[in-house]
This record gives sequence, C-alpha cells and structure tokens, in this order.
Amino acid sequence: MIEKPTTRWQTRLRDAIRDPNELLRLLELSAVAESESSNDSNFGFPLLVTREYAQRMRKGDWNDPLFKQVWIDRQEGFSPPNFVSDPVGDLKVQRAPGLLQKYAGRVLLITTGACAIHCRYCFRRHYPYSSAPRSLSDWQPALQQIEQDTSIREVILSGGDPLTIVDSTLAKLVAEIESIEHIERIRLHTRLPIVLPQRVDDSLLDWLSVTKLSKWIVIHANHAQEIDADVAEAIASLRATGAVLLNQAVLLRGINDTIDVQEQLCKRLLENSVIPYYLNQLDQVVGAAHFEAERSIGKTIVQELAKRLPGYGVPRFVQEIPGQPNKTRID
Ligand SMILES: *Cc1c(COP(=O)(O)O)cnc(C)c1O
Ligand code: SF4
Repeated sequence: MIEKPTTRWQTRLRDAIRDPNELLRLLELSAVAESESSNDSNFGFPLLVTREYAQRMRKGDWNDPLFKQVWIDRQEGFSPPNFVSDPVGDLKVQRAPGLLQKYAGRVLLITTGACAIHCRYCFRRHYPYSSAPRSLSDWQPALQQIEQDTSIREVILSGGDPLTIVDSTLAKLVAEIESIEHIERIRLHTRLPIVLPQRVDDSLLDWLSVTKLSKWIVIHANHAQEIDADVAEAIASLRATGAVLLNQAVLLRGINDTIDVQEQLCKRLLENSVIPYYLNQLDQVVGAAHFEAERSIGKTIVQELAKRLPGYGVPRFVQEIPGQPNKTRID
C-alpha cells in the first residue's frame, strides 16, 4: 500500500511530547516531588504538547506559565462538586451531530476532537468526541441544517482544533459552507498558530485566500511568552489572506492573573495586529478547579488595562453562562 505523503506539520504533530518524563527531562526538571508528579493518572486526558511550544518554556522552572498549562497536576483529582463535565451546556444545544447553536446568527461546528496540545483547563476536555462527525459525509446533516436556516450568517469551525484537519478536507468543507447563499462569514477558533506555527503553510494559506467569505480567526494565547518570532510570522501570513485576527484568553490562576501579565499579552497581540477579544472566566470543568481565579481579579485587570491601552486593546471579560443569549460580560 502506498502511504499518502504527510506534510511537515503532520510529522511534527505526530512527534509531539506525550510522555511526562520526557517533558521533565527537556525542561531539566529532574527530581519530581511526589506532590507534583501525577504519572499515575492523567485523569482521562493524556499529556500532549508540541515541541515547538515546549521550547518556549523556561528550563528548571516548575512555575513556568506555559508549562503549567499542560502539566498534569495532582490537584486535578480533587474536583469540587460544582465543577462538572459539560460546564457550558454544549450537549443541550446540538442541532445536528456536531452542530451547536447558542447564539443568534452563528453556529459552531465541532469539526474534530483532536488538538495539538492538551490544555489542562479545557472546558471540552470531557466532550464525547468519539460520537462527533469526522468526515465530509458525516457533516452533511449539519450542513443541511445550516442551509435550511437563513438566519444563520456565520459558521464557526471549532473542536478540538479545526486546523488539525488536513487542508484538502478543510478546503472542501469551507467550499460547501461558502456555497450556502446566506452564509457571509467563516470563523476559525484555533490554537495551532500558537502551538505549532508551522501549521500555517502554503496549502492552508491557499484555501484561506480563495474563499469569498469574510474570515475571522480567533487564536488562543494566554501569555506573551507564547508569542515568539515563528508565531508572529504565522500570524502575519494569516493576516495577509485578508483574515481579521482576534485573541481569546482564559484567566488562569498563577499563570496570567495579574495586570502586568495581561498587559504584556495585550501589547504583544497588538504588536502583531491581533485584537484582544475576550478574557474568559474559567469554565468550571472537572479537573480544572486549581486554575480558577476570583472574578473580582479579572474585573480589576480589565479596568486597569483600560487605563493603559487603547480601547480596542482591552479584552472583554466574559463568562459563559448556559442559557444566556450571549457570553455574559463581567464588569
Ligand atoms: C462562544 C460561542 C460562540 C461565539 O460567541 P461570540 O460571542 O460570537 O464570540 C458561538 N457559538 C457557541 C456555541 C459558543 O460557545
Ligand atoms: S480545544 Fe483548545 S483549549 Fe481545549 S485542549 Fe484543544 S487547544 Fe486546548
């Protein structure tokens, strides 16, 4: 059998770090104190991090803000009862397999369960992806729903991470979406430009450049240290296709819950012409309680940011409350 040629990014994805001990070795974090190690359990969500992202972590620092986003901490096992498996009510708003609608005019397509990194705070860490559609034919019921509902103007590709899907499939999916007359905008929610900037290659830029839909790309950086020269280059290439770039961050205790860290993140984003869109209060998902910061901290941060940055440089601090007609602003 002839294997299909894999692209460079696919090879890098396959080579991502999955072994906690390997990550520790790379970061020169030798002796794992019993309290910090959790090799005995991954709480149903294995460690996964690209080498590209791991390279931006500081060596020898257990408190590195990037390391802490991927490291399996024992505290994941002590989840308070108000932390649940589907905190944002995703499963109640399915209109077709993989098609979620919560808000007017826009629908969200769960395109895949795969990611290039496992962020420990992820609100979809318990999402039942195995029953979600995976191929063009699986997406037909969702596409039919979109076609029948002329109130829908925007399709959001989410997941998992939509950019873990190969470009030939994505190009076909987007072409099908584009053929629906009332759809004006396509939005991608992705962490790939941050965690594997090599994903932004010619074949991705090709289909992005040809679509006639207006394009909105929401990247997901939580800390300025995540945005290095390679990431900046990937962002510039995405912008060159005519896409508008936005960033969404999650407020994470001990990682980005200070005014200065958030200011540095916003400044780094603005340097790269990315608009800080949302700062999200943590969704209360099982295993993530140790990342939760007080809402008052987020409020103070955005109030102070407003004094330091232009209006468009200050993210909206929001929380997703199931049943609400929009993300709820906390201010
Ligand atoms: C967050 C979310 C959106 C996007 O909301 P915006 O406020 O437009 O960014 C859309 N659909 C679903 C299901 C969502 O969870
Ligand atoms: S869906 Fe996003 S936040 Fe969740 S693990 Fe994947 S990349 Fe991280």
